[in-house]
Amino acid sequence: MKVTAVGTMCSWTIELSTSFIINDEIIFDTPQGSFKTIYNNYDLSNIKFIIISHFHSDHFMDIHLILEILRKTEQNITIIAPKGCKERLFTMFKIVEVSYLEDYVNNFVTFIECENGKTINLSPYKIKIYKMEHKNLDAYGFVIENDGVKIGFSGDNCACNSLIKILRKSDVAFIDCASLEQNNKHLSIDEFLKLKEEYKNVKLYPIHLTHKVKNILEEKTELINQGQTLNIIKDDNIVIN
Ligand SMILES: [Zn+2]
Repeated sequence: MKVTAVGTMCSWTIELSTSFIINDEIIFDTPQGSFKTIYNNYDLSNIKFIIISHFHSDHFMDIHLILEILRKTEQNITIIAPKGCKERLFTMFKIVEVSYLEDYVNNFVTFIECENGKTINLSPYKIKIYKMEHKNLDAYGFVIENDGVKIGFSGDNCACNSLIKILRKSDVAFIDCASLEQNNKHLSIDEFLKLKEEYKNVKLYPIHLTHKVKNILEEKTELINQGQTLNIIKDDNIVIN
């Protein structure tokens, strides 16, 4: 599987917020500001799926710009998102004066609602969905399986059981580590490093970073940076290059 990091940071940094493109077919989260880079650096003509982990602006806000591009070629896509995504989109379209996108969404977009424990088969991908603890929000993490490789994306989360389930299932996982201190919204550096030590079956990359967190973590663990692409294949073992 090919995983490209469009961005790996959080809202308070000069870099892009966390977003990924997987196998040129799946966009994972569409943060504010990400469209400029996605549109200019990547080919959207193969996009089949958009996954939205939750509706915070640094995960969702640029989606209408991506839909605007996909509308031009009447691309059929599936959006996997928390409940109420279509209604939120239509409200967003009104706010930013692009209500003409409603027709495209009604005719070419299929919505799949996230539910804890749900597995969806969207050939060639099998996607397992986990409800994450992120304050009190309807937020989700995912394990995407393709070609024998399982890749976890936590979305935003504090330390919770679902995160452990994702780590147990995944070969490689990209997990929220936005905090210096333990809290109920994001994982802290200490919690991340403890999980890294405990779950050696999975290669962990911290994402959604602040500058301070990044400075500390780059001494202690491998990072994925904005614009970097990893090719993750299963040979006898998992190989990442
Ligand atoms: Zn969030």
